[in-house]
Amino acid sequence: MISELEELYQEVILDHSRRPRNFGDLADAAVRVHGDNPACGDEIHLGVKFGTDGGLQDIKFTGHGCAISQASASLMTAKLKGKSRAEATEMLRAFHDLVTDETAEAPKMLGDLRLLQGVRKFPQRVKCAMLAWRAVEQALQQSAGESTISTETEFVTP
Ligand code: ZN
Repeated sequence: MISELEELYQEVILDHSRRPRNFGDLADAAVRVHGDNPACGDEIHLGVKFGTDGGLQDIKFTGHGCAISQASASLMTAKLKGKSRAEATEMLRAFHDLVTDETAEAPKMLGDLRLLQGVRKFPQRVKCAMLAWRAVEQALQQSAGESTISTETEFVTP
C-alpha cells in the first residue's frame, strides 16, 4: 500500500526531475562548481552569482543524473535563490542533518525538500541528494572562480 506521503514524494521528485527549476547556464556566474557523484553517475554544474550584500542573488545548474539528484538540485536552487549566506548555510546544515541523521526533525524552512528525508535509509541515495548541496557548499567557500567536488570526499559543514 502506498501512503499519501509516498505519493506526494514521487509526484514532487518526478515533477522536479522532469522539469528542473533554474536549469541552465548562468552566464555571469561568479563561481562555477562541477560536482560528481561516481557512486551513481550523477553530475552537476552549478553557477552562483553573489549580490553586493554577499547573498545568493542568482543560482542555476545543468547536469544529468538520477531523479533524486536532479530533483534535489532543482528544489535546492528554488529554495536558495535570493537567500543570504547565513540563511543558505543554515539550510545546508539542516538538509544535511535531514538526510543523514535518523533523529533529525524536518524543519519547516526546508519546504518540499523535507520529502527527501526518506533517502536517509539508503546511504547511496544520500550522495545523490547531497550532490547539489556539496556544490553550493563549495561555492560559498570561494567568492570567485571554478572548482570541482566529489561526493567521495568528506563533507565539512561550513
Ligand atoms: Zn544518483
